Amino acid sequence: MDLNHTYRSFVLAVARNPQVRHLVQSRGQNLARRFVAGDTLEEALQALEALERHRVHAILDLLGEMVTSEEAACRFKEEIVRLIQAVGSRPYPRYVSLKLTQLGLDLSPDLAFSLMTEILTEAQKADCFVRIDMEDSPRIEATLEVYHRLRQAGFTHTGVVLQSYLKRSEQDLERLLPFKTPVRIVKGAYREPPQVAFQERRLIDAQYLLLCKKALEGGLYTAIATHDPALIEEMKRWTAERAIGRDRFEFQMLYGVRREEQKKLAAEGYTVRAYVPYGTDWYPYFSRRIAERPENLLFVVRSLIWG
Ligand SMILES: Cc1cc2nc3c(=O)[nH]c(=O)nc-3n(C[C@H](O)[C@H](O)[C@H](O)COP(=O)(O)OP(=O)(O)OC[C@H]3O[C@@H](n4cnc5c(N)ncnc54)[C@H](O)[C@@H]3O)c2cc1C
Repeated sequence: MDLNHTYRSFVLAVARNPQVRHLVQSRGQNLARRFVAGDTLEEALQALEALERHRVHAILDLLGEMVTSEEAACRFKEEIVRLIQAVGSRPYPRYVSLKLTQLGLDLSPDLAFSLMTEILTEAQKADCFVRIDMEDSPRIEATLEVYHRLRQAGFTHTGVVLQSYLKRSEQDLERLLPFKTPVRIVKGAYREPPQVAFQERRLIDAQYLLLCKKALEGGLYTAIATHDPALIEEMKRWTAERAIGRDRFEFQMLYGVRREEQKKLAAEGYTVRAYVPYGTDWYPYFSRRIAERPENLLFVVRSLIWG
C-alpha cells in the first residue's frame, strides 16, 4: 500500500464527517478560490478570458453532484444549458464538463439520459463539446451505458473519462474504441478499494501511459489530463517519435494547479485546456483536490487556525 493512497483515503474519509464539512464550508470559501473560479457563471467567464490571454482554453464546469431529487437534476440541466448558451456567444473553443449524478443518475439512468439529450441538443447548436466526467466505481457501468445510448441516438460531440487507477479501465477502453469515443485519461480522484483499484503509484502511472497510448493508437482523440511532469514528458516524447499529430491529442490540467506549466505547453504549440469549476457546491470537488496533495491539507489547516 503506498503512502499517496493512504493519505488520499484518509482525507476523503475525514471530509465526509458532517462537522468537518460544516467547518470548512462555513470558513473555507476563500480557500476554495484556489481551485474554484467563483460562485457565478460571470466569474467563470472572467477566468476563461484570463486563460485565453495565454492561449489556454477553458473547460467550464458547474459544480454539483449526487443530486437526490428530480427537481434538483432539472435545475442543474437548466443551469448547464444557460452555461452552454453563454460560452456559445464567445469567440473561443466551447467546452463544458458535467457529472451524470448531477443530472439524477442515482435516481434513474433514464432521467440522466433524457436531460443529457436536452443538453447535447443545445450544445450542438452552440458547437460545444460536452465531457462526461467519471465518478466513483459503483457509477461507472451506468455512466458508460448512458454514454452508449447517447452515441446510438446520434450525439457525437461528447466523450467520457477513464481512470488509470481502476483495474477495469483497459477493458472499458476496448469497448469505446469502435465508437471513436473522444476520451480523457486521468489517474482517478476517488477513494477506491483494492478489489477494484490499483493502490500503488507505479501501477497507476504504468496503466496511465498504457491507456493514453492505446487510445491514440486506436485513433481516439485523447485528452491527456494530468499534472505529472514524468507522464507529460513521456507522452510528448512518444507522440513525437510516432509522428502523432498534435491535432490528435491535447493536455488538460485543473484551474489553479501548475499554471505556469499550462502556459508553457500552450506556448510550445500544444492544445491545452484548464478545467474551470464554479458554483456554490464546491465542497466535494475541493475535498478531492486537498486529498491529492499533503501540502494542500497543511494550507487548509493553517488557514482555518490562523484565518
Ligand atoms: C482536466 C482534468 C479532469 C479531471 N477529471 C476527472 C474525472 O472525471 N474523474 C476523476 O476521477 N478524476 C478526474 N481528474 C482528477 C485526476 O483523477 C487526478 O486526481 C488529478 O489530476 C491529480 O492527479 P495527477 O495526474 O495530476 O497526478 P499526481 O501524481 O496526483 O500529481 C502530479 C503532480 O501534480 C501536482 N498536483 C496534482 N494535484 C494537485 C493539487 N490538487 N494541488 C496542487 N498540485 C497538484 C503536484 O505537483 C503533483 O506532484 C481530472 C483531472 C484533470 C486535470
